[in-house]
Amino acid sequence: MSSLAKLALLGGEPVAREPWPVSNTIGEEEKQAVCKVLDSGNLSQFRASNGKDFFGGPVVNRLEQEWSEYFQVKHSISMNSLTSGLFACIGAAGIGPGDEVVVTPTTMIASATCIIAYGALPVFADIDHSNFCLSRQTIEPKITSRTKAILVVHLFGYPVNMDEIMRLAAEYGLFVIEDCAQAPSAKFRGQPVGTFGHMGGFSLNYHKTIHCGEGGIVVTNDDDLAQRLQLIRNHGEAIVREMEIPNLVNVFGGNYRMTELEAAIASEQLKKLEWLTQARIELAEYLTERLMLIPNLSLPIVSEPSSRHVYYVYAMGYDAEQWGISRELLVKAINAEGIELRDSYVRPIYLEPMYQQRLAFKGGVPFSSTESSKLIKYDKGICPVAEMVYERRLIFGKFCRWPLTMQHIDQVALAFEKVYEGRKELAGALH
Ligand SMILES: *Cc1c(COP(=O)(O)O)cnc(C)c1O
Repeated sequence: MSSLAKLALLGGEPVAREPWPVSNTIGEEEKQAVCKVLDSGNLSQFRASNGKDFFGGPVVNRLEQEWSEYFQVKHSISMNSLTSGLFACIGAAGIGPGDEVVVTPTTMIASATCIIAYGALPVFADIDHSNFCLSRQTIEPKITSRTKAILVVHLFGYPVNMDEIMRLAAEYGLFVIEDCAQAPSAKFRGQPVGTFGHMGGFSLNYHKTIHCGEGGIVVTNDDDLAQRLQLIRNHGEAIVREMEIPNLVNVFGGNYRMTELEAAIASEQLKKLEWLTQARIELAEYLTERLMLIPNLSLPIVSEPSSRHVYYVYAMGYDAEQWGISRELLVKAINAEGIELRDSYVRPIYLEPMYQQRLAFKGGVPFSSTESSKLIKYDKGICPVAEMVYERRLIFGKFCRWPLTMQHIDQVALAFEKVYEGRKELAGALH
């Protein structure tokens, strides 16, 4: 047996013998844009008073305009994170105590915490094992007379079927909030995700496809929601009297404002979004072609022809029984080949202690607020697919992004081929 065929975990040569390049999308353009803001001395023009400064400075305003043009929406409201943005969305939708929002348990924690923050309750619907996202089938049984909204997450860059979700929401009179943190410029039937729902949110934190350190943007085509989002971003309760908006006395705000520095970076990053996305898609499609030849991996394939997955991560379903080695061992073996593969994204959110102990605010609020809130379940087992995906099925990696090349993808494919071929030996050696 040649040393390349021998698994690295069993003492063979690893497939990847050199470390992979780091992905850094920040360049001269961002540096110059930041310096220009620094030279101006105006690092944030936001002021919580009636007038044009209520909406921020020139760079923030320009970014919002560019974002609206890019995504073809009426309003873009910048925030200092998408976590802030999601809080603002729940507030703008007027969601509060006694209300329920249907959400996925397989997401970054803030997608659910924003609901709790307003005294409402997340109701977790299960995910589909093929794309790790909610579907109409899983959402509908969770809708009650208290449901106010559906919060959809386009996880890992996968575009959820928004036609189905919007139809369902219209039938029940619900708000739809799209969390597109991992899917900027993903498309469902040719239209960017985030622009189907009443509000859509994007993250610009360091880990996302484009970033400005920390930041977020909420988009909407609804003038009224846009105004509420702007008020919540910037101490709204101090402004409504001056602005003569008597119907919104209950809008209370935070300081969710983005600085001019972050906006300058985000504006340059937005220009790179399309080619960075294209680079991801090219690498991912090639990887799919290669991995298709290996049995018992479920690959991220979008069946809708005009929809596009943007591969924030390349996520797959793994069948340990068919392979004959545990997921843990597979990951170890692939990692030993010099390829970073990971095996568990977040735990289903309801398994976290806040839900298990039903305690967010004093006295168990909001879990114990009303008779109906006491009936909402967070027990292990409520979303069996999400739990199975977390415990056994999901494997993923950040293989598909600039400046990685087809040669790196070849290494990923080779590592999988090697481990697949050597799986029996591996299982035997470690028994
Ligand atoms: C990153 C992320 C968020 C939060 O974004 P921040 O800008 O870091 O607050 C929300 N939802 C999902 C799915 C995310 O991946």
